[in-house]
Amino acid sequence: MSEGILVAVSGFSGAGKGTLMKELLSRHEGYALSVSATTRTPRPGEKNGVEYFFKTEEEFRRMIEEDAFIEYARYVDHYYGTPKAYVEEQLAAGRNVILEIEIQGALAVKQKRPDTLLLFVTPPSAEELERRLIGRGTETPEVIRSRLDRAAEESAAMGQYDYIVINDDLRRCTEEMHGIIQASRQTAAHQAGFIEQIQKELREREETRE
Ligand code: ADP
Ligand code: 5GP
Repeated sequence: MSEGILVAVSGFSGAGKGTLMKELLSRHEGYALSVSATTRTPRPGEKNGVEYFFKTEEEFRRMIEEDAFIEYARYVDHYYGTPKAYVEEQLAAGRNVILEIEIQGALAVKQKRPDTLLLFVTPPSAEELERRLIGRGTETPEVIRSRLDRAAEESAAMGQYDYIVINDDLRRCTEEMHGIIQASRQTAAHQAGFIEQIQKELREREETRE
């Protein structure tokens, strides 16, 4: 069995990443969603260990010192980081692991592991982004403004991603994302183990014929 694909999914806050990931995991097998650590406070309904592991700054710093993260970044006044152990364990078990992380983090992961698939999720327009952020109703108008400013900055990095995924219709977008990930499993680079095995089998058959 080949290792799973490591997929970093980024996109503007409010683009619909969380919604898409839930849909992907409920419709398809073989995925694991990495749960990040963060120093931000939980939103209503968020539970420790489900959406995030909620940490104090001191706890987060200790995890950095212990080298427990694949990557971490500061985003709008808080730290966010990807714990390493779960990701490695799930990849080895053949599952595709999704990291829902912002751009600096995604690019850092790609540097460490060049076979990481980078997906950027965006709504079809800026107007729709603002509508979704307001509609979600979880942030104050000031926080929404700072997230829209951040989105303008982040759009500069979109060209560094492998695929741009436009989240207009949720179902269509989910299937498109699943298709991209499945196709990535079949790249020659990802199938290096299989290639080696069949080359060996063919050589052995050649030898027995001689
Ligand atoms: P993110 O995780 O990227 O910050 P969310 O998943 O919280 O974004 O989505 C932001 C808001 O947009 C939510 O209220 C969600 O219900 C809504 N939303 C997500 N995807 C779609 C879509 N395809 N069409 C319309 N609304 C959507
Ligand atoms: P939110 O506060 O809306 O849950 O997340 C804010 C941003 O942090 C989002 O862009 C989200 O994808 C990103 N994020 C979540 N977890 C991580 C992580 O472990 N590392 C990095 N670099 N970004 C993360």
